[in-house]
Amino acid sequence: MTDIRFDGRVAIVTGAGAGLGRSHALGLASRGAKVVVNDLGAARDGSGGGSEAAQAVVKEIRDAGGHAIANGANVADAAQVQAMVDEAIAEFGHVDILVNNAGILRDKTFAKMSLEDFQVVMDVHLTGTVNCTHALWRHMIEREYGRIVFTTSASGLYGNFGQANYGAAKSAMLGLMNVLHQEGFRKGVHTNLLAPTAATRMTEELLPPAVLPLLKPETITPGLLALVHESAPSKMILGAGGGCFAETKVYETQGVALGDDDLTPEAVVANMARIRDPEGQAEMPGAFDQTNKYIQMAAKLRGIS
Ligand code: NAD
Repeated sequence: MTDIRFDGRVAIVTGAGAGLGRSHALGLASRGAKVVVNDLGAARDGSGGGSEAAQAVVKEIRDAGGHAIANGANVADAAQVQAMVDEAIAEFGHVDILVNNAGILRDKTFAKMSLEDFQVVMDVHLTGTVNCTHALWRHMIEREYGRIVFTTSASGLYGNFGQANYGAAKSAMLGLMNVLHQEGFRKGVHTNLLAPTAATRMTEELLPPAVLPLLKPETITPGLLALVHESAPSKMILGAGGGCFAETKVYETQGVALGDDDLTPEAVVANMARIRDPEGQAEMPGAFDQTNKYIQMAAKLRGIS
């Protein structure tokens, strides 16, 4: 098998001063990429800030013979993100890889969550991801090459008590990826989701201490590298934790077509088992594939060809 290398590639990794981002930045640099190590140096809830964390990772990369620069942009601030991208291009000439990883938590039940707690988490995770991706999108499309990862979470894909803000932001990344895959793939820009489970500052209080050594961030990074390499897939949701990797997919059941005389809520309830029957379920490549499926089912029932 050929080595996964990133020689000549330039990567921006957000939130790379600690945890998963640090591990990803070190992994990319160790395999030849030049890396912009972005980190605001925020506390777990997004408060405070400082450039020491990003600079320490840059030092680690340079001490190992790699190339990196530190950047303290707040990903939630579009102007700061644009300045980061301009700086990256001025320093390294172009950007090939974007790893959207920066994140914070403000967990509370929805009943106790203020709208500010909701918005701040959306701002960092979703708007931050949009800001970074938008600032690089035309650059990548024009160069006909780009690899972009959004860091989602099982909380967004499956739900997690007390994380309405975080879960909403993380699942919104799925919609963003689905559309950007359609707009970017033919132009060489691949977009994927990484759903990690790792022992970091974000999770160390949530996981039993005994399992923390199993879930080191370094066990996730090989999956991230596979998602941003030349050979990367596009529109994949890669789950990763403790060296285990799995794919998450969205399927639609075959469903039922109801005739005009049967088009009542009672008929929908009566058919619920068939509507939910997983037999014959399939992926929809795009929104219009679902529309076409319904048109075909409805037309067939009514004898229209
Ligand atoms: P972490 O707290 O160790 O690292 C997050 C980093 O992001 C910090 O260094 C922080 O300073 C930085 N950051 C925060 N706000 C920022 C901003 N506005 N601009 C720039 N940098 C900012 O957490 P982690 O576990 O390494 O999380 C990394 C990503 O992985 C996050 O998006 C998180 O939601 C996601 N994730 C983590 C887990 C897990 O199990 N650790 C699970 C699912 C998803």
